[in-house]
Amino acid sequence: MSCHIVSQGIMGIVVQRWEGAGRPDWTIGRTVNEVRRADAQLGRDGLGKVRHRALREHILQGDGAYVRQWTLGCHFCWINPRNPPCPICGRG
Ligand SMILES: [Zn+2]
Repeated sequence: MSCHIVSQGIMGIVVQRWEGAGRPDWTIGRTVNEVRRADAQLGRDGLGKVRHRALREHILQGDGAYVRQWTLGCHFCWINPRNPPCPICGRG
C-alpha cells in the first residue's frame, strides 16, 4: 500500500507537495511543518473539520509532540520507508 495512492486530506496534500518538489529528503521537522500547512489550507477551504478534528485541536493547542506523532504515523515514504519498498517512489 502506497501513501501516494491512498492518501486523502492532509496526507494527500503533503504527498502532492512532496511530489511537486521532486521527492526531496524532507526531515521529520519539515514534514511536520507541511502537515501544519496542509491543516491550515483545509481550514481555509472549510474542509477537514471532521476528518482531522483531533489533529486540528492539538495544533491549536500548540501540542507539537502530538503533531509529530501524528506525522510519523502517516507512513510518508521519505520519513517512514516500507518493506518491501514503495512501488511508486522506490523508497524502502
Ligand atoms: Zn512512495
